[in-house]
Amino acid sequence: MSDIKELITVVTGAGQGIGAGIAEVFARQGAQVALLDINPDVLEAQRDKMTREGFTVMAELCDVTQKEQVTRAVGKVAGQWGGLDVLVNNAGVNRDMSILKMREEDWDDIINVNLRSQFLCCQAAIPYMLAKGFGRIVNISSRAMKGNRGQTNYSAAKGGVVSLTKSLAMEFAHRGITANAICPGLIETPLFRAAPEDLKEKLIKTSLVGRIGQPGEIGRTAAFFASRNAGYITGQFIFVCGGRSL
Ligand code: NAD
Repeated sequence: MSDIKELITVVTGAGQGIGAGIAEVFARQGAQVALLDINPDVLEAQRDKMTREGFTVMAELCDVTQKEQVTRAVGKVAGQWGGLDVLVNNAGVNRDMSILKMREEDWDDIINVNLRSQFLCCQAAIPYMLAKGFGRIVNISSRAMKGNRGQTNYSAAKGGVVSLTKSLAMEFAHRGITANAICPGLIETPLFRAAPEDLKEKLIKTSLVGRIGQPGEIGRTAAFFASRNAGYITGQFIFVCGGRSL
């Protein structure tokens, strides 16, 4: 069990998939979790699910590519709960295609949601962490940061996330704030469940451990990086991908 009890935590893209899994792990381990998402339907459903389970949650509608929305949502959480300890930058999307077919908006949108959003959320959250002299930033990258055919936009953004994380670590380590990144491999989310069975089987075969990962496995890794006693770990990234990165 990580030491994250009562830490005030913002998770972006927390309405479904990995973000929802991270939020549930944090809540189960006693953190106060604020869910941010652009999609009101999944956001409400996830908030209701977690509230029914007895957890302390807030839900804020927020497009993490929009500075004003990010500042408002993070400010509201910190104002209501008395500061902010943990930021998990999870929101992300992909739009895969050959670079030859990629329109400028296919590039810009993917960079905005996956990378620029993390810049905006850090800018909004770090002042609250500085005020406490404590903070934990966990950025979700991807195994695709190593490069992937058909994912020039996505892999560039996810590589950027790792570099952003290292730079954040260097800027804020002496102020009690750590920054680390997680690079998931294939994780079972609604998108994966909806894929054709033969494709799913093929994908599972690429994992050394012979199965797909679960959102909770990313959640437990994020909780480890976020724990109070992980203060000597910063600027690192870890693959959680069943060995697929090898
Ligand atoms: P998902 O599509 O299931 O969930 C993403 C959530 O982010 C959704 O609820 C969506 O509404 C929200 N979101 C999208 N754009 C947003 C925006 N602009 N502002 C706020 N919220 C927004 O995706 P997922 O598979 O759970 O992925 C979560 C993260 O993990 C992403 O960063 C993704 O790149 C990364 N990742 C996923 C996998 C995988 O196999 N699922 C593998 C590697 C990395």
